[in-house]
Amino acid sequence: MTAARLTIDLDAIAANWQALSRLSETETGATVKADAYGLGIGPVAQRLAEAGARTFFVALAEEGATLRKALGTGPRIFVFSGHMAGDTQSLRNLNLIPLINSAEQMVRHAEALAGHPFGVQLDSGMNRLGMEPAEWAAVRPMVLQAGPQLIMSHLACADDRLHVMNAEQLETFTRMTSGIDAPRSLAATGGILLGRDYHFDITRPGIGLYGGAPYDDAYPVATLSLPIIQVRDVEPGEAVGYSGTWVATRPSRIATVAAGYADGLLRSLSGKATLWAGDTPCPVVGRVSMDLITCDVTGLAVEPDALDILGAHQTVDALAEVAGTIGYEILTSLGGRYRRRYVGHGA
Ligand SMILES: *Cc1c(COP(=O)(O)O)cnc(C)c1O
Repeated sequence: MTAARLTIDLDAIAANWQALSRLSETETGATVKADAYGLGIGPVAQRLAEAGARTFFVALAEEGATLRKALGTGPRIFVFSGHMAGDTQSLRNLNLIPLINSAEQMVRHAEALAGHPFGVQLDSGMNRLGMEPAEWAAVRPMVLQAGPQLIMSHLACADDRLHVMNAEQLETFTRMTSGIDAPRSLAATGGILLGRDYHFDITRPGIGLYGGAPYDDAYPVATLSLPIIQVRDVEPGEAVGYSGTWVATRPSRIATVAAGYADGLLRSLSGKATLWAGDTPCPVVGRVSMDLITCDVTGLAVEPDALDILGAHQTVDALAEVAGTIGYEILTSLGGRYRRRYVGHGA
C-alpha cells in the first residue's frame, strides 16, 4: 500500500441525483464543473447520464470538451462562462451551449456563431456573472429574436433557507423574464430545497449530488483512506511535527499517514481533525505537513493499515467545518495523488 485511496460511490451520486430530481418536479440537470467537484467528470457524468440526466452544466468550454468526449453526442452541455474569446471553435465543434453573460458576449456569439444554440445568464442580485436589468432590457428583443435555449440566474444565499435575498432574487428573476417563452432556470442544490417557486423549467444541482450541504439527506459519496507508514512511541515531553506544536503528556503511540496538505487535507486541520480507525476516533496531533499527517493511536488495541479521514464517521461537511471552510472546497481540493477507485454500478 502506498498512495492514499479515494473511493467514489457512483451509485450514491446517481441516488442523490434521483432524490433531487424527485424534489425538483421539473427537469433536473447536473452541474459537473471543476472535474465533477474533484471526483472525476468522466465516470461521474456517465453514471448520471445512465441515471437519466440529459442536461449538464460546466464552468468552462475546456471542461465541456472533456465532458463531450465522455458523454457522446446526445446530452446538452451548457457553459456558465458563456462565449469567451477563443471559445468559438470548441463551442461549434463539440456542440456546447454558451450561457451568454453580457451584450459583448452576445455580439461575439452573433458574429462568430450565428445560428449556434446559446442561453442567457442574468444577474438577479449576486453581482458575479450575467446581465443586469438595464443591460438585459437593452438587448432583450435582439436576444429573444435569436431564440435562446435557456434563461438562467443564480442565487447567492440559497444555502440559508431564511435569507431575505432568496425571495428578492426570485422576484427580480421573475420580473426580468416575464412574458418569455424560453425555458428558465434559477435553482442549484440550495434552490431546489427552497421549494417549487424556485424550480422553473430545469434545476442545476451540483454539491447535493456529491454528498454535500445544504442537501442534508444526501448519501455520502467519497471515502478517503490514508495508509499508515510508520507508528512510534513518544514519551511525555516529546514534541511531534513541525514547530513542535503538540507535546505528549503521557506515553503515546503516534501513527504517521501518507497524505497532507498537498493532497487537499488543509493545513488548518492541524491539531483539530480526527481520523478514524473503523469506529474509533484518533485525534490528529501536531501540524499537517505537505505529504504527512500525524495522529494519536494510543488507545487502539489493534493498529490498522490505514485510517479514514472521509467516510461514514466524517462527511465532507464535518471535515470542512473543522478546517474552517465548506464541503465544496474540501472536495475540489482533493489532489491528484490519490489512487481513485470507483464503486457501484457503472464503475
Ligand atoms: C456551481 C453552480 C451551480 C451548482 O451549485 P451547487 O450549489 O453546487 O448545487 C449551479 N449554477 C451555477 C451558476 C453555478 O455556478
